[in-house]
Amino acid sequence: MYCLVAFKNFTKELVCYAVDASVTEAHIGYRVLVPYGKKNCIGILVELISKPTIDQSKVKPLSNLLDPLYRRETITFYRQLASYYLLSVNEIICLATHTDLFLTDTCTQDQWFCISPTLKPSSITQKKVAKFANQSTCIWSLKQHFAINNIENMIAQEDLIPSEPTAQPIQASLYELSTAQQKITQSILDSWQGVHLIHGVTGSGKTEIYTHLIVHTLKQQQQVLVLVPEIALTQQTANKIADRTQMPVTIIHSNLTKKQKLARIMQARSGAAQILLGTRSALLCEFKTLGLIIVDEEHDSSYRHHSPLFFSAKDMAVLKAHIEKVPIVLGSATPSLESLHNAQQGRYQLYELHHRVHTSMPKIHLVLHEESSMLSPQAKNAIQHTLDTQKNVLVFIGRRGWSNLVYCIKCEWQARCNHCDQILVLHQNHSLQCHQCQLEFKKPVDCPKCQQAELVSYGYGSQQVAHHLSQLWPEHQVMRFDTDQTPTALKDQFASLVQQKSTIIVGTQMMTKGHDLAAVQTVIVIQADQGLYSHDFRAEESLYAEMVQTSGRCGRRQQPGEVWIQTKNPNHPLFQSIQTPRSYPLSLLEKRKQYLLPPFQFIAAIYTLAEKTPNILLPDELKYILGPIPCPRGNREGKTCFMWLISNQCRNQRKHHLSWLIRILQQNPKLKTWWQVDTYLCP
Ligand code: ADP
Ligand code: ZN
Ligand code: ZN
Repeated sequence: MYCLVAFKNFTKELVCYAVDASVTEAHIGYRVLVPYGKKNCIGILVELISKPTIDQSKVKPLSNLLDPLYRRETITFYRQLASYYLLSVNEIICLATHTDLFLTDTCTQDQWFCISPTLKPSSITQKKVAKFANQSTCIWSLKQHFAINNIENMIAQEDLIPSEPTAQPIQASLYELSTAQQKITQSILDSWQGVHLIHGVTGSGKTEIYTHLIVHTLKQQQQVLVLVPEIALTQQTANKIADRTQMPVTIIHSNLTKKQKLARIMQARSGAAQILLGTRSALLCEFKTLGLIIVDEEHDSSYRHHSPLFFSAKDMAVLKAHIEKVPIVLGSATPSLESLHNAQQGRYQLYELHHRVHTSMPKIHLVLHEESSMLSPQAKNAIQHTLDTQKNVLVFIGRRGWSNLVYCIKCEWQARCNHCDQILVLHQNHSLQCHQCQLEFKKPVDCPKCQQAELVSYGYGSQQVAHHLSQLWPEHQVMRFDTDQTPTALKDQFASLVQQKSTIIVGTQMMTKGHDLAAVQTVIVIQADQGLYSHDFRAEESLYAEMVQTSGRCGRRQQPGEVWIQTKNPNHPLFQSIQTPRSYPLSLLEKRKQYLLPPFQFIAAIYTLAEKTPNILLPDELKYILGPIPCPRGNREGKTCFMWLISNQCRNQRKHHLSWLIRILQQNPKLKTWWQVDTYLCP
């Protein structure tokens, strides 16, 4: 027999090794020690096969089976995810697996002690345990492999916290649900499988429904995975869930230290983390006994993981729930068109909440936006009134930085990124920044093209808006929320929001997502039209969601809030329908059908980098593929980016053609290819 093993970094492909009869299917997901070159490496056993994938004479034997790391279901999940997005399983496993779990035998004796079960129990000294006890790998490893009775004692003496829980009874303090909430909860509990989509207006009590379902799951001694779109949302949602369930919530996201991350991954794995809440990467964690998945704000595009690999965490959560045979709940005030379509097709069970729990929906005012002034007189009045009544105002602006565009009025030169050709954004510190490549340039004094001192900037970003507002209301605090703030500063600002009064909150997209901001009475949208002029077929859908979500941030407690949207197109149906939602998304869906766009077609894009337009002949079967066309997102790595678009009625055929096209492109030595498969999954 042979097996295929995943490695960190070495190769995209799985590597083939020979195994004897003692290795069985039960060992899939085990860490294994294998010879690779002159080293011994740790890999993960992914598959058993009867024929080697390489020349038989070159196949080496597996050195050692170490310990179980992943359950078979998890490996199945990684494999299906990889196959779905045409990625290699190896890439997915490397992304999911913490580097420390791949330590090779070049590591020190102490590190080896952590990971190697071949070490004799007699060599475990108290000092060593103490040294590694705060890394839960160690405790987990020790417990897995050595029958040590006194490990808890050893840990206790060193005053360290063991990673495994002492089972505590659940004493949740849940809110009594309204009739509407109760009906939804009961229906989900009754079926306890499949995909459930809760379409509930902002503040309609979706989160309280989640907490009831979470408690139900915990009582079955099963774990819950909760996904949220942004790091900034993790703490608030975790606090709410912890408060209601009276159980600790383990948070996981990319801003943790390596050590914290490893500890939490291991807690999910051991079952110690009963509620794991995180951003999209949390989806790749292994669970001991997963019982429920919740995806909050399911429409949010942040679930789309772009780098280093592309996948949609929301779609993959549906896949994971299917493989693990557990129910999944998607919730949003503005469900994605794909999810609505899936509900229409009967693949998702749809529930609706039409009313807020505490107040009625905010009143929306549309104001004509004049280029010459940032704030309309109506918006100014509304801000003044809100501040006078000790409430907070949220001012939404879709872009960070100072202004959108720097250009020359003489020769029309524009400041663009020399890497990707995107328009650069001017920042308060006078730098020009590319928000796509994160590169920074110095702002030229004179126009680099015509040498005249005629450079001007145009449009507003959050920095300029905050600056302007603090000049207009110097006696009031202005707080700015955007990703130019450090994560720590943001965390502090969010924490202090609870007690703020008469404060102006300036925020980009990050503020519009799911935040339950108690004292915000008024929302001002500075400039709402950007999404109307985009090449992205999803732009209108996102703008609509953004407007509804932003409006939803105000008036969540006593009085209904008021929203002032400044737009150049107040008569556009998108803005007209914000007050009476639901019909607009359905009309967008109708348009997608008409124009043969997703979710009615399966599409995919492949990008190639080349010096000039590649000249590639496609076989007749692939003639329907559009390309190469210049990529609307601009260039990459200083080279021109070209795109190929595939749109097909049949998902399998698309996949087949996609692999075919990729093979053809890869054969061309002049092209550097990568691909992004944009798909809509239904289990
Ligand atoms: P959503 O997640 O839909 O935006 P939330 O669950 O955050 O809504 O609910 C909005 C507000 O209403 C929160 O302050 C929440 O605690 C409160 N709430 C929700 N359901 C109930 C209930 N059944 N009883 C009392 N308060 C509730
Ligand atoms: Zn010029
Ligand atoms: Zn750039």
